[in-house]
Amino acid sequence: MEYRKDKHGNKLSMLGYGCMRFTKKGNAIDIDKAEQEIMAAYEAGVNYYDTAYIYPGSEAALGEILERNGIRDKVNIATKLPQYLIRNSKGLDKFFEEELSRLRTDHVDYYLMHHLTDVEMWEKLKAVGIEDWIREKKASGQIRNIGFSYHGNSDNFVTILNDYDWDFCQVQYNYLDEVTQAGVSGVKAAAEKGIPVVIMEPLRGGKLVNMLPEKAKKIFEESDHDWTPAQWAFRWLYNQPEVTVVLSGMNSLEMVEENCRTASEMQAGTLTDKDFELLDKVKEAIRENEKVGCTGCRYCMPCPKGVDIPGTFACYNTMYTEGKNSGRFQYAQTVGLTKEPAFASQCIECGKCEQHCPQSIPIREKLKEADKALRPFPYKVGINAARWYMYRKGGLSGKKKSALIIIITVILAIASGIVFSLVKRNSRLDTDCQ
Ligand code: SF4
Ligand code: SF4
Repeated sequence: MEYRKDKHGNKLSMLGYGCMRFTKKGNAIDIDKAEQEIMAAYEAGVNYYDTAYIYPGSEAALGEILERNGIRDKVNIATKLPQYLIRNSKGLDKFFEEELSRLRTDHVDYYLMHHLTDVEMWEKLKAVGIEDWIREKKASGQIRNIGFSYHGNSDNFVTILNDYDWDFCQVQYNYLDEVTQAGVSGVKAAAEKGIPVVIMEPLRGGKLVNMLPEKAKKIFEESDHDWTPAQWAFRWLYNQPEVTVVLSGMNSLEMVEENCRTASEMQAGTLTDKDFELLDKVKEAIRENEKVGCTGCRYCMPCPKGVDIPGTFACYNTMYTEGKNSGRFQYAQTVGLTKEPAFASQCIECGKCEQHCPQSIPIREKLKEADKALRPFPYKVGINAARWYMYRKGGLSGKKKSALIIIITVILAIASGIVFSLVKRNSRLDTDCQ
C-alpha cells in the first residue's frame, strides 16, 4: 500500500474504505461479510475508513467490526456531521455524541461537515457556533482533524476552502468530472493551501465501470496495459500528487484485493502521454452521446444573471450518458439547491456568453432546451420544497410545524422523480465512495 500524508504529517493509505455500500442481509448490514472485507483491507494496509451519520447502520457496523478485532486505534475513522439537520448548537453535541456511541470510540480522527453545496450552508453553521464547537472538540481531542465534503460548484468550493483553517476536504472527482463540481481547479486550490484532498466517487458511483459504452470498453481492452476500467480510473487519480486518499465503497473481497493492488502499484506522475491519449479517447467515446459539446472551459462565465452555464450543460449531458434521473439529480444538487439558484431559466438572452465560447455553442438556445429537460414539473416542485426546507428562516413549532411537515411530505411524494433521487442519494449522500 502506498501512503500519502495528511496536513500534520500522518500517513494515510492512498486507498480509503468507503463504508456506505456494505452488503445487506435483509434490511441490515451483513456484518460478518463486511468484517471479512474490512479486515482484508486492513491487512493490506488500508488505514482510512469513511462513514457518515446518515448511512444506514454504517457507523454502528464499522464500530462493531473495529472493536471485535481490536483495531480501533490502528485505523482512522472519518465520519460526518449531518449539517443539514442542525438547527442550533445543541444539535452539534447531540449528533456527535450519538456518532461516538455508534462507533464505539471516544474520538473521531477526521470529522467532516457533510455535503456542503453552497457557502450559505457553512454560514448557517457558523451562525450556530460551529467554530467555537470545533475549537472545543479539537482541544479535548475528540476531533483530530476537521474538514468538509462538497458537492457544489468550483467557485463556492474555493470560497469555503478559504474561509476556515481546514485540515482536509473531500470532493467528487474522476476523469469525467475534471471540470464539474470542485473540479481540477478546486483540487489544485486545496493542494496549494496544503489541504489534503480525499476523493469520493472515483468511479462516478460505479458508472465508469458498469455504464461504459461498448466503444469505451473496447478502447480499454486494446490498450497495452492489463488494467480494468476501474484500475484506469483509480490510476488517473493516484497519478495526481494533489490527491491524498481515494475512497472506494468496496463490498466484495475481489474488489478489495483489486483496489489494494492498484493502490500498492501506483505512484504520482507515472501515467504516460500515451495513457492520457487513451483516456481522452475513452472520454470522447463516453461523450459521443452528449447533447452539448461544452468542454467546461468557463470562458462564458460569469453570467450577469447568475446562470451556471457549464454546470447546466454538464447535467444535460449526464442525462444522455448516464440516465435522466442522474442528470436531473445533479442539476437539482449543483444548480438548484445553492442559496442563489443558477437555473438556465434565469437567462435573459443578452448573448454576452456566446461571444466567448470557443466551441461556438448557441448557448441561449441550448440553455432553454436543457432547463426544460432537466426540470420537468415534479422536479420543479421537489426542488422548491427542498429549497424552502433548507433556507427557511427561524423555526416553526407545534401544530404548524406538524401540518407543514405533512404538506411538504405530500408535495414531495407527488414529486416522485426528485424525491426518489434524493432519498436514494441520501442513503449514499456524498457517496463518499465509489
Ligand atoms: S445570454 Fe443568458 S446565459 Fe448568456 S450571459 Fe446572457 S443571461 Fe447569461
Ligand atoms: S465557453 Fe462554451 S465550451 Fe466553455 S464552458 Fe462556456 S459553454 Fe462550455
